[in-house]
Amino acid sequence: MNYEKLAELLFPHVDKTPEDYEAAYPQRNLPEGAKVTRLGPSPTGFIHLGNLYGAFVDERLAHQSGGIFYLRIEDTDDKREVEGAVEAVISSLDYFGVRFDEGTTVDGETGSYGPYHQSSRGDIYRCFAKWLTQQGKAYPCFCTEEEIQTVRDQQESLKENPGYYGKWAKCRDLSYEVIEERVKAGMPFVLRFRSDGDAQRNFEIEDGIRGTLSMPENVQDVVILKQNGIPTYHFAHVVDDHLMRTTHVVRGEEWLSSLPIHVALFNALGWSLPVYCHTTVLMKMEGETKRKLSKRKDPELSLNYYRSLGYHPRAVREYLLTILNSNYEEWRIANPDAPAEEFAFTTEKMSNSGTLFDLDKLNDVSKETLVKMSSEELYDFLCAWAEEYKTELAELFKADREKMIRILSMDRTGPKPRKDLVYCEQIFEYIRYFFDAYYRPEEGFPENVDKGDLLPILKGYLETYSAEDDQETWFGKIRELALSLQYAAKPKDFKKNPDQYKGHVGDVSTVIRVALMGRSNSPDLWEIQQIMGEAQTRSRIEAAMAAL
Ligand code: GLU
Repeated sequence: MNYEKLAELLFPHVDKTPEDYEAAYPQRNLPEGAKVTRLGPSPTGFIHLGNLYGAFVDERLAHQSGGIFYLRIEDTDDKREVEGAVEAVISSLDYFGVRFDEGTTVDGETGSYGPYHQSSRGDIYRCFAKWLTQQGKAYPCFCTEEEIQTVRDQQESLKENPGYYGKWAKCRDLSYEVIEERVKAGMPFVLRFRSDGDAQRNFEIEDGIRGTLSMPENVQDVVILKQNGIPTYHFAHVVDDHLMRTTHVVRGEEWLSSLPIHVALFNALGWSLPVYCHTTVLMKMEGETKRKLSKRKDPELSLNYYRSLGYHPRAVREYLLTILNSNYEEWRIANPDAPAEEFAFTTEKMSNSGTLFDLDKLNDVSKETLVKMSSEELYDFLCAWAEEYKTELAELFKADREKMIRILSMDRTGPKPRKDLVYCEQIFEYIRYFFDAYYRPEEGFPENVDKGDLLPILKGYLETYSAEDDQETWFGKIRELALSLQYAAKPKDFKKNPDQYKGHVGDVSTVIRVALMGRSNSPDLWEIQQIMGEAQTRSRIEAAMAAL
C-alpha cells in the first residue's frame, strides 16, 4: 500500500506538516524543573469537587516549580456542551483560588500555545492524523454501527476480548482501490490507529501518584478521528499535551485503563511522554462502607454547594490540601500561620486508593480557618455571600456594620476562642437572634427551674437591669436576684447544700438567656446584651414574660 497516496486521498486539504507545528509551538523557555500542567474540562457546566481536587494538584505542581498552569477546553463532544459553561468553570475555580497563567479566559485566550479550545484545533489534529496515515499507522474504517455490534456479539459469544483489533479489525487491510472507491462514493469513515501492540506483552510506566505501573500493551485500533473529522479524547489530548508542552497530566483514575492507548499514540508519533498522574476518586463513608461520591446522591460533590452555603474558599482549600497530601496536617500544626502555598506539595504523598471526603472534617477545618480570620474580613465575606445568595440578608448586614462586627467578634479572641462559626448560612443561623425580624425562640426554659419562678426571675431582672453596668456589677445583680429567690449565688454553694436551695445562679441566668435569645447556650450573655442595647434587651424579656 502506498500510504502517502492514501494520506493524500483522505486529507487533500492538509497543507501543514508536523514540523510546521513543532516550530510554531517550540519548547517553552522555563527554568529547569518547571512543570507545565493543564486543566482540560469538558464544557458540560458541571464542575465538581473532584475537578477542584485535580486542579489544586495542577496548580501546585506548576506554581511551586515556577512553571505554567493553563486552561484548555475539551469541547470535541458537542452534545455535552452547555451555554455559559466555560465562564462557570472559570468563575468557580477562581472562587476557590485556582488561577490560570494561560489559556481560555472569560474574554478570549492568552498565551502562545493556543488555540485553547479543542474545537478550534481541527487543522492541527488533521495534520497529525495525515502524518500517521502516511506512516501506515492509521487507516480509514467504514464499518457501520451495526457491523461493529455484530462483531461485539460474536466476540461475546466466543468469550473473546471486545473491541476492534487483530482479526476483528475488518478495515485494517483494505486495499487502496477499495478505499478510494468508497471515499469517492462518499461513504463515511472514521480514522483508526493501527496498533502494533501485543496483548501478551506488558510495559512499565511511572505514574506520578501511583509509582511504577505494569500494564498490557494496547492492541485496540482505536478511533482517532470520528466520522465528522473531530478527534476523540485519546488523540486530541495526546496532540495537545505534546504541542502545548505539558510536562504533567493530572487526571482522574477513570482514564487509567486507557493509558496504554495514550502511550501507544505518543510512541507512534515519536514524542516523549508527559508524567501521568492519576488521582483517586473521592469517596465518602456511608455507614460502615466507603463509596464513591455520586453526582446524583451527594449534593456536596458540586462546587456550588460550598459556594451557595458560603464556605470560605480558604477553608475548602485548606481541607482539600489535608486530603491531598498525607503530611499536610502535620505541617499545618507546625506552621499554624504560614500561607498554604509554603507547604511543599508532592504527588508522591497522594493517596492512590480512594480519598475519603468527610464533611464533618471540612467543617472542623473551616472553624479553625474562620477563627484565625479578623471579624472585619469575615464581615466582608459574609456581605459578599449574602449579596449573591441572600439579598435580604445583605441589607440587614450592611445596615449596621459596627454591630455586625461586634457580633462576629463575640468570644473569638483571647487564648480560648470559641469556634462556632463554620460557613455563612450557618453563621447567620447562629446569630439570627440579634435581628428581631428573624428571631424565633428555639428552646424552652430549663426544666429544673420551677415554672412559678420564671416570672419573678424575669421581672426581678428587668427591675435592676441597666445597660450601663459593667460585667461584674451586672453579674453581682444576678447573684442577688438568685439569692432573693432561693437560688444559690454560686454553683458550689448549691452543690454543698442542695436542700437549702432550688438551684443556683446558673439556672437563673439560663432563664434570662432563654428569654433573650431563645437558646440556653450562647457566647457571653453580658456581651450579647451590650450589643443588643437596652431597648432590644428589655423588649425581648418583656415579650418572653408576656408569653409565659
Ligand atoms: N476532558 C477530560 C475530562 O473532562 C479531561 C481529562 C484530562 O484531563 O485529560 O474528563
